Amino acid sequence: MAQRFLSTYEVVKESVDLPSFMEGDLGIDIQWSSDRESCKCICPFHGDSDPSFSMRKHADGWGFHCFGCNSGGTVVEFFMKHYNLEREEALEQICERFEIGTDSQELLSAAIRALSRDVNTSGRLASMHRLAADECRTLLRSRVEDAALRKWVSNAFRRMNECLEDMDCDGLERICTEARRLK
Ligand SMILES: [Zn+2]
Repeated sequence: MAQRFLSTYEVVKESVDLPSFMEGDLGIDIQWSSDRESCKCICPFHGDSDPSFSMRKHADGWGFHCFGCNSGGTVVEFFMKHYNLEREEALEQICERFEIGTDSQELLSAAIRALSRDVNTSGRLASMHRLAADECRTLLRSRVEDAALRKWVSNAFRRMNECLEDMDCDGLERICTEARRLK
């Protein structure tokens, strides 16, 4: 299963409201849309007269694009260009300025939280699988000459494997219940 943690870059771009920063800290006149999910302004990067610098709020943070000079990116690229910084310097300055905690302790505890969630799931999955398999074997032993039952059990084992692949604890529990009912 894919497990990913947010990088500093991702944390930063999700955390900073770029147009509000430009408006409040840089004194740039922002023309907001009525839902405040997008806006435009005079581009700070080229001799702009008509607002060609547009910004839009995405699920993972604000992005900008200038139709005049074709610059674009996130708050990180904005800082790099505006303050003439390298990427790492830009990240550092943004974290400091907006008090974004991305120190190793915080990233580490997020990683541990995610990890223990997975350990819990795989632990539960393993014990549910053991339980379902036991129920099926017991069922089979009780009526070993029953061909229809043998077929059901072999099918149940195939379903159990699918449940393991999908990490589907509830599916295993259902097989367990069905096996008990058939006894
Ligand atoms: Zn521009």
